[in-house]
This record gives sequence, structure tokens and C-alpha cells, in this order.
Amino acid sequence: MKMELTEIKETQCPECGSRPTRIEKGIQHCNEEIRFDCGCILSYSPNFKRMETDIVCPNAPKEKRKAAKREKFIENILDIIDASKVDEEFKIKARFAMRFL
Ligand SMILES: [Zn+2]
Repeated sequence: MKMELTEIKETQCPECGSRPTRIEKGIQHCNEEIRFDCGCILSYSPNFKRMETDIVCPNAPKEKRKAAKREKFIENILDIIDASKVDEEFKIKARFAMRFL
């Protein structure tokens, strides 16, 4: 994938090294955006004059730990729902609501 970005120097994900899947450069403004195979998105906006991470690499150790904690949290809640004495209809609703976290 070849397109010259002037502000974003990364040519691979800074966390996991995956390749770019999409590179965009604004025509009127100098916005730049680069998306990587892993899902990480970096962008540069001339208004703020800095590069930002729009979507953090899911392979970054910190993100992996965060995801594991969230998964464990959901498992715990599901156990609580299952063990609860509330009616089955409410349990189904509660389990369904967990999908929107
Ligand atoms: Zn990555």
C-alpha cells in the first residue's frame, strides 16, 4: 500500500506491527488517517497538530489485560444472573442486556 503521509510516519501498527489496510489523506485539510489490519487507527488533525490514536491496537498488552478483565466481569455477572432467584423472563432480559456492554 503506497501513499505518502506527511505527518504520520508509522508504516505498521506501533504495537503489533500489522500492516496498513487503508490510508487516507484529506485534500483540502491535511487530515491523515491510517488503519491497520489489527483494527488500530491513527490519525492526524492539523487543528490539534498532533497524532492521535483513534482506536487502540487490540494486541497491545494493556488492551489485552483490559479485555480479559472485562470478559471475567461479564462471566461473573452471568453467574450471578444464573444463580439469582428472580424469574426466568427477567434472567433472559438481564443476559440480553449484557450484550450491550
Ligand atoms: Zn496492532
